[in-house]
Amino acid sequence: MNESSDISTSSNSERNDLLILNADLIDGTGASTRKNRSILIENGLITAIDKSSPVNGIRKIDAKGSTVMPGLIDAHVHLQSVPGSVYRDDSEKDLEKYRYEQLRAYLACGVTTVLDNAISSEMLKKFNNFLADGGTGPHIYALGPTFYPRNGYLDNGMLTPYWGPSLKPSENDEDVKSLFNEYENFDNIVGVKAMVEPGFQATIWPLHSPEMRETIVRESNKRNKPIYIHAYKKKIQKIGLKMGVKNFAHSGFLKGSPSNKFINEVLKQGTYLTTTLASTIEQMLIQFDQERLDDPLLKLTVSEEIINTAKDMNAWKDMYEKFIKNSTPKWVPSLVLKQILKYVNFEKQLKANLTNASKAIYKMYKAGIPIVLGTDTSNWPLFISFFHGISTIREIELLHDLGMLPIDIISSSTRIPAEMMGIESEVGTVETGKRADLVILKEDPLKNLSALRDVSWTTGKFDPMDMVAVNANETAKIVEMGAYSFEDVDTAIVNAIGSPV
Ligand SMILES: [Zn+2]
Repeated sequence: MNESSDISTSSNSERNDLLILNADLIDGTGASTRKNRSILIENGLITAIDKSSPVNGIRKIDAKGSTVMPGLIDAHVHLQSVPGSVYRDDSEKDLEKYRYEQLRAYLACGVTTVLDNAISSEMLKKFNNFLADGGTGPHIYALGPTFYPRNGYLDNGMLTPYWGPSLKPSENDEDVKSLFNEYENFDNIVGVKAMVEPGFQATIWPLHSPEMRETIVRESNKRNKPIYIHAYKKKIQKIGLKMGVKNFAHSGFLKGSPSNKFINEVLKQGTYLTTTLASTIEQMLIQFDQERLDDPLLKLTVSEEIINTAKDMNAWKDMYEKFIKNSTPKWVPSLVLKQILKYVNFEKQLKANLTNASKAIYKMYKAGIPIVLGTDTSNWPLFISFFHGISTIREIELLHDLGMLPIDIISSSTRIPAEMMGIESEVGTVETGKRADLVILKEDPLKNLSALRDVSWTTGKFDPMDMVAVNANETAKIVEMGAYSFEDVDTAIVNAIGSPV
C-alpha cells in the first residue's frame, strides 16, 4: 500500500470521485506529516497518493494549508442512548430523531467509524437500515450479544424504557446460544461484550458463574468473536485475563494502580485497553463548569433541548439520586442515601477518579499496552452531559492532558482500534486500497490537537452512489433543511475549503 508514482488514471467526472490537492498528510501509520500530497479517491477508495496535481474532469478540492488524516474511530459508544432522555420524558419519535442526529454529530466531529459496545439487535438493525437507505452517519460496528446474569448489572432497572429495545440476561448455555442466534445475521459484529460488574461502590450484583463464563468463552471462540469485557476493578480485570479477552472496554483504576505483574500479563496476552475517561467521569464535571455548554462545536452538533437538560440543576440532582439508588444495595435506607447525596463532594470525588484513571492509563501506555480511544457515550439515558460526537474530541484532549504524545493519540484513534476490530485492511490509515474515510482539518493536529475541534470536512460514507461529506459549520444548517443531497454537501465543501478547482 505504498504511494503510487502517478495520478493519471482517471479522467471521468463521476460524482463520487474526488481529488484532494496540496494537503499536508498524516496517514495514521505513525509517520510524521508529509507536505503537499494529492489523494485520489475513486468509488470511495483511495487509489493514489502522490505529489503531482493532474487530471481534468474530476472534482477537485484544493486543501492547501489544511491537513488530511484518517477519520477518527470511537471504539466505545452506545448509539441507542440519548443523553438526558429520562428527564425530558422523550417520546419514541423524539428519541428516533435524536438518535439519527447523533450519527451526524459524529461525522461533524471527524468520527467516521464507531463501535457500539452494547446494542439490542432490533436497534442495530434500525441503524443499519437507516445507513443503507442513504442516511448520514459514521460506519457502525457493534459488539453482540452482550452477556450479563439475571439480577446482575444492567438487569435491575438501569435499562429504562428510554433505552429503547432492551437487552436480555443470560442464565444458562441455552440463553447464550439463543443470544448468538439473535445476532448471527449481521455483518458488522466484530465481537461480543461480557459485563463483569459486581458494583461500583459496594458489591451488589451477582456475576456469571465460572462455568457460565467458560460457556461464553467457548461459544465466542467457536464463532470467532473476540470478547470485550466491562471490568473496572483490577480483581475483575484479572477474571478477564483468564477469559482471554481481546479488550478491556474501560481503563478502570478509579482507585489503585496497575502492578507490573498485571501489566506484563496484559502485554503477554496483547489485550487492548479502551480509555473511556470522557463519558464515564470527566464530563460529569460540566455540572460545575456550565460555560462548557456554550462550546460552539457542541451547539452545532447537539440539539438545544439536550443541551438545556444539562443546564437544569434539578436534572443533575435527579441524576445523582437515581444513580446512587441504582448502585447501592437495596437494603440501604433511603435516609442514608439522602445523607450520601448531601455530604459527598462529587466534584472532588470525580476529579480524584479522573486523576487516578489518567495515571493508570499513562503507566499502561508507557509500558506498551495498545491504547484505544473510546468514550462510552452516552452509556445510559440517565446521564445528561455525555454528548455524542464532541465527547470523542474531549477524550482526545484528556489523553493529551495525561501525557500521551499527539502522534500516539492519533494512532489510538485510527490505526490501533481498526486493528483491534479486525478492519485494518479497510480503514485506520490513509493508504491506497483503503476506504476514503478522511478528515480535513484547518491546522496540523500534531502541532495543536485542538485542531480537531475545527473539522473542515469529513467523509462519512463512500458508497459509490452515496458519497456524503459533512462540514461542522454547515451541519446545523443541513440538519435544519432535513436534506443531505449532494448539492448541499457541495455547498458545505465550498464554504469550508473554497471552490472546487
Ligand atoms: Zn459502555
